[in-house]
Formats: sequence, C-alpha cells, structure tokens
Amino acid sequence: MDAVTIARRVRTGELDPGDVLNETLARIERFDAQVHAFLTLNPEAEAEAEAVRRRVAAGEDLPLAGVPVAVKDNLTTRGLETTCASGVLEGFVPPYDAAAVERLRAAGAVLVGKTNLDEFAMGSSTEHSHFGPTRNPWDLERVPGGSSGGSAAAVAAGYVPVAVGSDTGGSVRQPAAFTGTLGFKPTYGRISRYGLVAFASSLDQVGTFARSVADLARISRVLMGHDPRDATSLTAAPPRLEPDPERGRGYTLGVVRETLQEGNSPGVLDALERFRAVLEAEGVRFVEVGLPSLRHALAAYYLVATAEASSNLARYDGVHYGARAEAGDVRALMRRTRERGFGAEVKRRILMGTFALSSGYYDAYYGRALKARRRIAAEFAQAFHEVDLLVTPTTPTPAFRLGAKLDDPLEMYLSDVDTVAVNLAGLPALSLPAGFEEGLPLGVQLIAPALAEDRLFDLAALFERATDGAYRQTAPLD
Ligand code: GLN
Repeated sequence: MDAVTIARRVRTGELDPGDVLNETLARIERFDAQVHAFLTLNPEAEAEAEAVRRRVAAGEDLPLAGVPVAVKDNLTTRGLETTCASGVLEGFVPPYDAAAVERLRAAGAVLVGKTNLDEFAMGSSTEHSHFGPTRNPWDLERVPGGSSGGSAAAVAAGYVPVAVGSDTGGSVRQPAAFTGTLGFKPTYGRISRYGLVAFASSLDQVGTFARSVADLARISRVLMGHDPRDATSLTAAPPRLEPDPERGRGYTLGVVRETLQEGNSPGVLDALERFRAVLEAEGVRFVEVGLPSLRHALAAYYLVATAEASSNLARYDGVHYGARAEAGDVRALMRRTRERGFGAEVKRRILMGTFALSSGYYDAYYGRALKARRRIAAEFAQAFHEVDLLVTPTTPTPAFRLGAKLDDPLEMYLSDVDTVAVNLAGLPALSLPAGFEEGLPLGVQLIAPALAEDRLFDLAALFERATDGAYRQTAPLD
C-alpha cells in the first residue's frame, strides 16, 4: 500500500497503525535475511504506532499517519544505535534525533529501523559496509547501488512505501535507478542537515525514496523547511509539492549531450529515447543542451568530497564517540582506534583528501576543483535560461554484480558520473524509473534550477500518468 493511502485510512480510522507495522515487520522477517536492507530494527516501533493511534484519535492531522519509514543509518536517532555502517561508530547511541527524524515523527510516521549504507556514505554499491552488503531485490546477485542502498532496497522490496537517505554525489538517485524506485535530492539547504553525520558538508543533502510520485512528494514536503540549527538551511518558503502533471506538459526539457556519449549501455539510451517519445506525445518540448565542463565534474567531486571528508572524519578519535581501542597513551589510543575502526575505502578517502589539501598541493588540486565547481554551476545556470529542466540517464548501466567493481575504486567512482555535478552545483534532481534492461530497472534523471523542485514533481507525475505507472513495480521477491 502506498504512503498516501495508509495515511488517509489511518486518519479515517479504517486502518490501525499497529496492523500496518505488523505487516511491515512480517515482510522484513520473510525477506531481509537475504536482502539485508536493515542494520537495526526499532524496538520502540510498536509504542510509536500506538502513540500515532492516540494522536489521530485526539484529532491531530498527520500527513504520514501510521506510515512505516526506513531511515539511513547516518541520521541520528535518539536512543537507537547509529553506526554509519562503520566499525568506528559501532555501539554509538545518539542522545538526539536528526531534524529529518524529528519531522518524520511529528508527521505521524513510524520509524521501522535503520538501513545499511557504504561506510560513512562513501561508495556506490553498499559493499563498503562494515556489516556486509545489501543485495538488490530485483536480483540478489547484484548490488542495490549506494550509498543509500539499504533505504532503496527497503522500498523496492516492498517493506516500506517511503524511506530516507542522503545524497552527497548521487547516493539517493543512483540506488533509486538500480532498484526501480523514485529518488529525490532537494536544493542544497532545503532539508536540515542537523543530525546527518557529515561526509562532505558542502555537498551533503538528505533525500527521499518512494514507489510513486505522490508518495515521494508527501515525504519530501514533510522533511523540508528552515532549521536554525543548520547554518546552511534555507529560509526561503518550501516549494509547492502537489505534483501537477498538466503543468508538466508546458515544460521544455534539455537533454544533456555530454551524458549520452561513451559508456552507456544500450538499454539506458533506449529508455531515454522512450522517455522522450512518451513525453513529446504529451506536448513536452525537447531540445539538446551542451554542458562542456561536465567532463570535469567527477574529478572535481572526488577532490572536494575527499578534502571535506578528511576534515570531518577527524572527530572519530576514540575519545568522543563510539569504539575505543585499548592503548597505553592517548596518541596510541587514537591511532589504533582509527586504524581498526575505519574500512579501506574510508582510509583511502582520508588520505586523498589530506593530500589534496596539503601545503604545496592546495592550489593544484583543491583550488582547481573549486574553480571547476564554479564553472559547472555557471553552465547549469546558463542552460536554465533556455530550458525548464535538464534530463540525463541517472546511471550509465543497470545494477552491476556484487564484487564487480570492488577491486577497482576508479570504476566504482565512475558509476556516479551522471549524478555528482548536481551536488557540486547545489541543484535539486530526481531519478525516476523509466525502463528495464534484461529484467533490471533503469532510471532517468531530471535536474531543476535551484528552488524549482516543483517542476521535477510535475514532470515525473506526467510521465507516471502517461505510462500508466508501468515502471512502478515492487521487485519480484515473492
Ligand atoms: N558514490 C559517491 C561517493 O562515493 C556518492 C556518495 C554519496 O552521495 N554519499 O562519494
């Protein structure tokens, strides 16, 4: 059942939040030993469902009344372990809820549990998790994408209708594409980062997953809004998020030429062509757009993201949080804690970031990456003088096999080639299911100007309606 329906029926008293939770838990029990979307289930979920029942009875109008949600394990949850899938945070129980979690609770959602991710959200497959990989519900031999692979899989497997992730370089959109779900990353600053464990602060945003446009809009709207506890939180009024397909018909879409060049599998290009044909028949206009600096996006991203990570991750010293190694003196304690606590990919990122920032190299690497970042943002702004939205494949291929890219970090990084530029420019974007290749889902990415999230939802709703929800499916696990 979708989130909008659950909330409506719970509010009218037709449906009991406790029953919804029990069905959710039964499905998780049945399939999650194989899928491994969850790291932790919330022992308080039943009590939370009970509290929602009381609030509804007291007349509260809750947009997510009784809706079960899954939350990525890099958002803090009061009293519930938050690990970031890292050995260094194993056993860490935060004393407060992230802003996104507070907002979900206030809206009447029931937190089912915390989902798996690549350690500290660094990765594209969920294989860099200290607790083992998540598998793609469409094919258990394949990855669900990453880093929010657990949240994507939880929605694709039909455990929950909606889930929350984070997107620093594509970590919501790429797993959405790999699992046949919708994934949304708002304009930088739309959703508070308070309680989102920092990876690369100038790129990190909370994002959302769902199986329908209406559900995606509902949960996204709940999460957006100003928060004085996040210095980068926007004060602008949140966007209109009632998807309006009729408005979508009036938009002009720019297909980004650079993303259609080498490296795409044939199914990806077919899906994009079909997407275009379906929407042209609805009256949407398509043009081609060139963004020449996009070819620098991946390099710029991996410099900026690692530089910020090397600084953000300095706080895991064995003293403040989580795991602590035994040692005779404080320096040895810190060294040993970090040596044992961090996985190989996180160490690689800390080394790369520290190198890029080090004296003598700063101008050559980090400084140039910032210049490329500014140029990319300027090219996007220029393109939006001519088009309402940009469109690209979300990923160059469908989900790859477990292990296929683990030995080659650069190959792994290349799976983000179509998503990272959006974060560098701080723009909102949405990935929607738009086809299949050999039984595996594929996604198309829509990109909007800053603050114009409403356009993404209008257009996605138009495509969903025009295709009669043909790509809206739960993975065939049963
Ligand atoms: N896969 C990208 C990376 O490894 C993006 C991660 C993310 O968005 N959190 O950095």
